[in-house]
Amino acid sequence: MSHNNFKTANQLLNRGQVKGRALVTGAAGFIGSHLCERLIASGYALLGLDNFVTGRPDNLSRLWRMPRFGFVEHDVIEPLSLDLEGALGGRLDWIFHLASPASPPQYQRHSIACMRSNAEGSFHLLELARRHGAGFLLASTSEIYGDPEVHPQRESYWGNVNPIGPRAVYDEAKRYAEAMTVDFQRRFGVDTRIVRIFNTYGPRMAPDDGRVISNFITQALRGGPLTVYGDGTQTRAFQYVSDLLDGIMRLTEVATHEPINLGNPDEFTVLELAKLTRELVDARVDIVFEPLPIDDPRRRRPDISRAKQLLGWQPRVPLLDGLTRTLAYFRAQLRVPPIPRRSQAPRQGL
Ligand code: NAD
Ligand code: UDP
Repeated sequence: MSHNNFKTANQLLNRGQVKGRALVTGAAGFIGSHLCERLIASGYALLGLDNFVTGRPDNLSRLWRMPRFGFVEHDVIEPLSLDLEGALGGRLDWIFHLASPASPPQYQRHSIACMRSNAEGSFHLLELARRHGAGFLLASTSEIYGDPEVHPQRESYWGNVNPIGPRAVYDEAKRYAEAMTVDFQRRFGVDTRIVRIFNTYGPRMAPDDGRVISNFITQALRGGPLTVYGDGTQTRAFQYVSDLLDGIMRLTEVATHEPINLGNPDEFTVLELAKLTRELVDARVDIVFEPLPIDDPRRRRPDISRAKQLLGWQPRVPLLDGLTRTLAYFRAQLRVPPIPRRSQAPRQGL
């Protein structure tokens, strides 16, 4: 992979034309690729890093055309080599650590790598942040609350996680990453941020990712059936990706080391989501019920008071709008032409 674009970034930085220099791990993933574009648009020069375990080169296609973007293929489990640090070309201002499988089937398939990306990966990147005097933002998750006994979930809740269940490889890894992040802040004064991301969706999710929104939309586009796990009464609160990015960008401007929930508090049952998707796609497809995965949380909804107060942030994209935009993306991915609709045509892009 080429570091050449980053040389351009350095030149721009030296001419004082960029806001700062950032490293984004998980750059070829769903959220990571959007975050890279947002950072570049707001004036950063950046190096993206990924090993493509769940990410896709396609997600980088717009970034390749941007002048202040460089990329390296690297596994965060391994320390960054001096070569790689050389490619950074100078002092980093921010490290955004997103590299980790995120969907339950993917993190269970890559269980050891998932734990190590959050454990060793966080360690190497926190060390790098310490050496560079850079800010470090950890993409944590609502999964650290496990199957919550407190509803909605606020940051002060410690969670209800099964430490030896099939989800532990993700939940406990993120809890460990949070503990390490907090300790680097306390011990070495690293300027850390912890974002607890609630279910986030949008364009660039992989069609075979396995999460509920990508599954339902691709199943509906392919003629069904939609697979509801359990009886579908479990709940989730779905956040559109642009809202998450707004929150993350605001968080870089506010000096707080406390974990922050970023999510959309509108709560839906999984069965409601299946019906909504079916209606939106205009597909006469069946809904079938399959066994509920072990330890699948019964309910989830963020309390976002802290984000509102500290960041002046709240989500703006309602589920129907976000689903419509995501549907347009999946139609293009699967090459399913749009059905002429009675109501509005799906919008493209974010
Ligand atoms: P994703 O699978 O699309 O992206 C993850 C990216 O990290 C992929 O590009 C993958 O190839 C890369 N990666 C994984 N392990 C790596 C390693 N060892 N070295 C280098 N790269 C590696 O998932 P996403 O939804 O974009 O999630 C991004 C981050 O946000 C993850 O840390 C995830 O835990 C967190 N998160 C996401 C959600 C959500 O709903 N999307 C919710 C909570 C937390
Ligand atoms: N789910 C479902 N059908 C699917 C995929 C997921 O019913 O095809 C359910 C899953 O059991 C969970 C919810 O949808 O209750 C959200 O699952 P997802 O994997 O998207 O994320 P989670 O919040 O569980 O990490």
